[in-house]
Amino acid sequence: MSFKENIHALFAPKTVAVIGASDKPGKVGHTVVHNMLDAEFKGTLIPVNPKSDTILGLPVTKSIEDLPEGLDLAVIVVPVKAVVPSMEALAARKVRSVIIITAGFKEVGREGAALEQQLIEICTKNDIAMVGPNCLGLLSTHDDNNASFAAGYPKKGSIAFFSQSGALCTAILDWALGEEVGFSKFVSMGNMAVVNEANMLEYLRTDPNTKVILGYIENVSNGADFIEQAAKVCREKPVIMIKSGTTTAGAKAASSHTGAIAGSDAAYTAAFRKTGVIRAGDMGTLFDLAMAFSTQPLPEGPGVCVVTNAGGPGILAADAIEKSQLLNMARLSSSTIERFKEFLPPYAALYNPVDLVGDAPAERYRKALEVVVEDPQVHSILVLLTPTASAQIVETAQAIIDVSKTTKKPIFVNYMGGMRTKPGVRMLNDASLPCSVYPEPLIASIETMYKYYLWRQTPAQEFPEIRRNRQKARLVINEARSKGATEVVEFQAQEVLRAYNLPTPNTVLARSSDEAVAGAEKIGYPVVLKIASPQISHKSDVGGVKVNLTDAEAVKNAFFDITARAQRMRPEAYIAGCLVQEMAPKGCKEIIIGFKRDDQFGPLLMFGLGGIYVEILKDIAFRLAPLGRDDAKGIIREIKSYMLLKGVRGEPPVNFQAIEDILLTMSELALDFPEIQEAEFNPVLVNAEKAVVADVRITLSAK
Ligand code: ADP
Ligand code: MG
Repeated sequence: MSFKENIHALFAPKTVAVIGASDKPGKVGHTVVHNMLDAEFKGTLIPVNPKSDTILGLPVTKSIEDLPEGLDLAVIVVPVKAVVPSMEALAARKVRSVIIITAGFKEVGREGAALEQQLIEICTKNDIAMVGPNCLGLLSTHDDNNASFAAGYPKKGSIAFFSQSGALCTAILDWALGEEVGFSKFVSMGNMAVVNEANMLEYLRTDPNTKVILGYIENVSNGADFIEQAAKVCREKPVIMIKSGTTTAGAKAASSHTGAIAGSDAAYTAAFRKTGVIRAGDMGTLFDLAMAFSTQPLPEGPGVCVVTNAGGPGILAADAIEKSQLLNMARLSSSTIERFKEFLPPYAALYNPVDLVGDAPAERYRKALEVVVEDPQVHSILVLLTPTASAQIVETAQAIIDVSKTTKKPIFVNYMGGMRTKPGVRMLNDASLPCSVYPEPLIASIETMYKYYLWRQTPAQEFPEIRRNRQKARLVINEARSKGATEVVEFQAQEVLRAYNLPTPNTVLARSSDEAVAGAEKIGYPVVLKIASPQISHKSDVGGVKVNLTDAEAVKNAFFDITARAQRMRPEAYIAGCLVQEMAPKGCKEIIIGFKRDDQFGPLLMFGLGGIYVEILKDIAFRLAPLGRDDAKGIIREIKSYMLLKGVRGEPPVNFQAIEDILLTMSELALDFPEIQEAEFNPVLVNAEKAVVADVRITLSAK
């Protein structure tokens, strides 16, 4: 059987052995057997223990050697020393999948990592699908399979959850039990030695019982696989993830936790964006989104209609909707208003928010909702109820539930209050309507769903072909490497840019002041002079840049000034002379385009406004290579200073196409040369006509 088929065996096994099963309540080996029985597992369950005869009424098999060949699943709970021998014995019995609950592997250090490596080798050789080690196990409600030592078993549902943290599994499971939320699958991934997040996404994509996928990750174990699988599944079902290790402290905790090396957060954000994964910032949001996505259809437009029995809360909700990026208050059509007039009291507000007024009985809600769901301007509905003296809490819940069954538009309910609203809230929950005490989380869910809807509509983007002379660039880079350099000096780096058809200003290298003047005359005034030294990469720091030199004398003086100062400030530096460079026209805007190679996800492109405020504003956006035309457009529009580039007070906009082309070319360069660790064009000077790369740094990996 193939590895993929064996992953299926983890969830839907016919024969399961528990290696290290125990007859002592409280032991993990006991709980697993108990949980399997409790889930009413329909297949054959075999406890394995050399010393017992029966466990929980089941006959015990004494050793792995006595197990039937081709077992679907083995759950291993033996002490860490016995795990590798058990795996060898199981491999000999041709086991298809295993869950290793036992801890004490990569997460504890080098020795553990070596043991884990042995497990990986056994699995790879035999195509065994292994979950763990160091995990809680997994469960699959539609297969009556609870191969875990978790406390409790959720009801059947359409949400799947996989998590790198076992503790978080316990917490979410408890939430599921408390809120009676159904789950299809629950997987505690542990160290992800074999089965990883990409395998999980691939499997869950084709799982007919799973509509929504939730994941908690601290790191991914294979960036490229993750991107490939996530991009596929997100086109079919929503994937909502929490990625921890966002803060530096969080990242440190994560790296000691599961032995994971937490990747840079910007790279993860970019990976999620590239693939369509929805990122939940916190647990509360994860739960809200899980409910919303699993119970409601996607809104097919931005228009929200608020139906309320109170003015104030209605306005609050309207404000929150208008403040959101994508949603707006639906403009109800005139026929809707006409129909309202037939049954709403004269003092009701007929426009969105539709205020049914404090004395609204359930029937008024029902009629109003029946009309609202038919309005083509309305794409989602937010029903608000405050527990006024005359509010019919339960009957109104029933009315909402009834109407929700007749429409393909998503309905969200905000029962404000707590005490009196409780029975209504329970009914709404049972009927799978997302319900909350405050409108804001519901509105946030509607917006996320609409964003996802829009994303699914966007066609695959275009990846334009970049004309380039790789060989020419290769020569320059090889030359730098052969000298053992980790940076390509600016003058040479310009060669690389020219090989990639990137716009560079006319530049000559001058070794003397006379050569500088000759260069300036050839280029034409005004010019810029820059220190040329392989050791000095931040030229301005040593007073190494002078702009706007308008005649021979200025050039001469600048040459002496720059070289003398550089010698004084950096006596160890070899100074080749000065670069004489064509000056970009006045009024150009400065931008930065760069990339950094992320260990997990590869080249991470960066775009931001340049100039002296970069450090403070930190107004930068990221995308992962390969960049497509939409990425290039998107990264530019994402920064807050985008408006400045568009031009203020009658200024013309900069040439955006020229910036996009530089971004796309940078992405190609990054993919063409894995040995370039980082590159930065700072600044690129851009105006309405064109963009030029005025400064370039190319950093090579140490080898
Ligand atoms: P560094 O970043 O090493 O200090 P740069 O080459 O980026 O040196 O030059 C410093 C600044 O000088 C730039 O940020 C830009 O404002 C200005 N500058 C550099 N080259 C040019 C040019 N060709 N035309 C106009 N301004 C330039
Ligand atoms: Mg610079």
